[in-house]
Amino acid sequence: MGGLNVGSLVSFNLALVMKWKWRFFTSEDTLWVRVIRFLYGENGGFFSLRRQASGFSPWARLLAADAKLREQEIIKEEVLERRVGDGKNIRFWKDVWVGPCTLESRFPRLSRRDSNPHCWVAERWSDDLTGGDGQVSCTDMKDGWRWNIDSDGCFTVAATREWIDRRVLKSNNILSRWSKLIPRKVNIFIWRVCWRRLPTRVALVKKRVVIESLECPMCGEGMEDLPHIFISCRVASSLWGSVFRWLQLQPFLGSDPVDLMKWCDLVHIGPKQRQVLEVVCGTTLWFLRRFRNDVVHGSKTLRICLLFDYIREVSFLWFSARNKQARVCWNDWFQHPLLM
Ligand SMILES: [Zn+2]
Repeated sequence: MGGLNVGSLVSFNLALVMKWKWRFFTSEDTLWVRVIRFLYGENGGFFSLRRQASGFSPWARLLAADAKLREQEIIKEEVLERRVGDGKNIRFWKDVWVGPCTLESRFPRLSRRDSNPHCWVAERWSDDLTGGDGQVSCTDMKDGWRWNIDSDGCFTVAATREWIDRRVLKSNNILSRWSKLIPRKVNIFIWRVCWRRLPTRVALVKKRVVIESLECPMCGEGMEDLPHIFISCRVASSLWGSVFRWLQLQPFLGSDPVDLMKWCDLVHIGPKQRQVLEVVCGTTLWFLRRFRNDVVHGSKTLRICLLFDYIREVSFLWFSARNKQARVCWNDWFQHPLLM
């Protein structure tokens, strides 16, 4: 790609955010770190959920950016890791220093039996304690931190930026997709699907929202998550069957709506047909969501037996109104939209 592009500028800014995180944990005795600790707690507010990292101060915005990177698994928690040296600055039970979580959460009963739950690694260390597979050992060096993106374990903006770029650009096509042929609200809705930001029942439970049932309201048979509502639900799969028969295309065989949108880019059809396919798939997802909401709210504005007819008509209206040069005729659209 070369040069500066939007993606890499964003990545550059995010890498600078990560630099503050790295500096916070590696400059322990400085005044600014002590101030942040006083205001945001021992870990400076890192490792908390994005919800908890709200606020308008520069540090709160930095925490929110960090939480978002972790949520999207672009920079996971394990990237910043404790490096055990003499074990005098790492809490044996309370810090994450061996494995993915604290020893306190892995061995709660054992930790409660320790007379000093805040003890240091050095105080509990013995040669038998080598993390089971010898992954940890005490040395004479001071305890420190490791940034696992760089091979030598030290943070650099360049490597972190490249790391973020690779991960963001890999999914960029799908996550920044915007079709001029469907309404803005539908584009935003598809974004939310692709970013997995729709409040399905499974997603709500993961966020610890108390709900009565996880069951899909449309079929009452499966758990309501994104793959279910949009692809594998009985209602959805029958609807897609009708849609693909109408398009005279081999059906999509995956189980995830995000893969469906990627699949639209890969099917062997011309560019004009691809536009039609995108509009039809977007419209189908949109109507599945509307139908699901109708069932949940009991509003009954859509009838299940007419869903396919709505999709055919509404996708025609959207496509023809936004693509005047194409001069689409309803009869052709009705018969076989990809042959136009
Ligand atoms: Zn269902």
